[in-house]
Amino acid sequence: MVLGTTGLNKKDQGFMSEQRVDAVIVGAGFAGMYALHRLVKENYHPIVFETGDNVGGTWYWNRYPGARCDIQSMEYSYTFDEDLQQDWNWSEKYAPQPEILRYANYVADRFELRQHINFNTRVLTARYDEIHQEWLVRTDQNKTYRTKFCIMATGCLSSTNLPKFKGVDSFEGESFHTGQWPHSPVDFNSKRIGIIGTGSSAIQSIPIIAQSCEHLTVFQRTANYSIPAHNEPLDKQYATSIKNSYPAFRAENREMFAAFGAHQSRWEDSIFDVDDEVRLARFEKKWQEGGLGFTSAFGDTGADKQANDIAAEFVRNKIRAAVNDSEVAELLCPDQVLGCKRVCVDSHYFETYNKPNVNLVNVKEHPVEEITPEGLIQNGQHYKFDMIIYATGFDAMTGSLLKIDIEGKNGLSLQEKWHAGPRTYLGLCSSGFPNLFTVSGPGSPSVLSNMIITIEQHVNWIIDCMTHLRDSKLSTIEALEDAENDWVDLTNEIANGTLFPTCNSWYLGANVPGKPRIFMPFVGGFPTYAEICADVAEQNYRGFELTA
Ligand code: FAD
Ligand code: NAP
Repeated sequence: MVLGTTGLNKKDQGFMSEQRVDAVIVGAGFAGMYALHRLVKENYHPIVFETGDNVGGTWYWNRYPGARCDIQSMEYSYTFDEDLQQDWNWSEKYAPQPEILRYANYVADRFELRQHINFNTRVLTARYDEIHQEWLVRTDQNKTYRTKFCIMATGCLSSTNLPKFKGVDSFEGESFHTGQWPHSPVDFNSKRIGIIGTGSSAIQSIPIIAQSCEHLTVFQRTANYSIPAHNEPLDKQYATSIKNSYPAFRAENREMFAAFGAHQSRWEDSIFDVDDEVRLARFEKKWQEGGLGFTSAFGDTGADKQANDIAAEFVRNKIRAAVNDSEVAELLCPDQVLGCKRVCVDSHYFETYNKPNVNLVNVKEHPVEEITPEGLIQNGQHYKFDMIIYATGFDAMTGSLLKIDIEGKNGLSLQEKWHAGPRTYLGLCSSGFPNLFTVSGPGSPSVLSNMIITIEQHVNWIIDCMTHLRDSKLSTIEALEDAENDWVDLTNEIANGTLFPTCNSWYLGANVPGKPRIFMPFVGGFPTYAEICADVAEQNYRGFELTA
């Protein structure tokens, strides 16, 4: 179909051949796949664009050794189809990346999703045509699509952060970012390797890399808290018992603050209501259970600094006990608030520093100065490597979205609107950008939750909203500025009542130089958030303007 130029921005002229679709979905991770499935079921004609050559998003890109989920397998999976959750079998307590990727592919095949997905295609721009109340979406295949709705399922942790180290391109050995790991096997045998970063990706990969390389040097800027996963083959009896009442188990998890852990022990009393012996016993129990649930030993460690200090010291003592060299152990002991940065979950991370072929370099006071053809220079020392691994994380929450040139009403771009930090209503919409939805966007529980559950909640809300518009013969939905301002204020207010804003985390955008510092996720918990979203819809989309 060829349309006239009316409503086309100058930049779009030359891309006159337009295909009309009901909805454009950007991204084929778990969010994009589920949005696609629901739209097709509701008789829409959507199209999905995905930069990668297959589905899976996070689990397609992050193939580094040791990559696995830190939410238990029986909980980190789709809930929307009872047969699907009965038929799929997980092999480990915490699923490894290849298995999660197989699951994504299985879902794509089972629900015949691929026919709607354009792989190897990046969305470059999305411009709102105010006259026709439609979006014009342009891809790097020089094609433009005209659509009423855009669903940005671009991911929160999908835009890698590679710090601008001097000489970064000059290195003559192999170099990889954990978030863009090659598809073919990487051989560490007999190699001298340097890894920069000690976040979750590094903490998962370091023990595996250390097993076969000649030497591994870890460059640490900030030590991190990590709790052992105690990963093991999935107990078949446990899996069967969950499957016997899977919907009830899912419902219980949806009532949990972060949408997981309903069957794990947890307490909500104050750490100051019990004596030292009870504290230690409880922390020890949570440590032995392993995983992210460690932070639910008491109700006040997330908001009370003194309570947090006690929990943090317990973890530091575990690190001191695991690492033989006391200087190395102290260097590995974090000093920020526990949970302020995402807590990591590991398998034998700290013990890895007891190996003779692993050493730790503190780059806090003396940053990496330069990457050279042979390695890197830090604190005046030239380290020679065959391989450098950047485990330096992501431009989180907004990175992938803002890489797309999104222009809303009155020519305002999302980049301009969010120059001082993201502003959304419910983390789903931003005023000035009608009919454009974000999944797990800033202002939603997102990365502070079991994301597959929150993805389903978001997508259900979005598709229900689109269907409401269609059934009511309405054309657009747009967040009102007042409602958005109130939501941003509420999100900040809740975050400021916690210890989250006390350190330089990626939740705040602090890991990317120049990025505005604003606490991005909604910290009020998934059940509260989901209830607010449901109320808003119930009250005829309170805080939104709906137009014919
Ligand atoms: P993604 O999976 O990130 O998918 C987004 C897709 O959009 C990507 O494939 C990307 O290529 C595509 N895309 C982006 N921009 C464009 C564009 N312009 N054009 C076309 N395509 C585009 N969450 C948990 O709850 N538990 C965990 O244990 C957990 N572990 C994680 C481990 C790692 C290593 C990482 C990085 C994240 C982890 N997460 C975890 C978060 C994880 O991102 C989510 O659980 C979930 O997979 C996100 O799905 P998504 O579809 O929203 O985004
Ligand atoms: P990350 O947590 O942001 O860690 C990046 C690391 O690189 C940090 O240690 C950071 O130090 C360091 N770094 C960044 N720039 C640096 C520089 N210029 N010089 C030296 N060090 C630098 O990234 P990630 O490990 O990829 O994890 C991101 C998120 O993805 C996690 O928080 C989690 O949500 C998710 N994830 C989950 C799992 C899982 O267990 N399932 C696994 C991987 C990732 P600073 O801390 O000082 O900034």
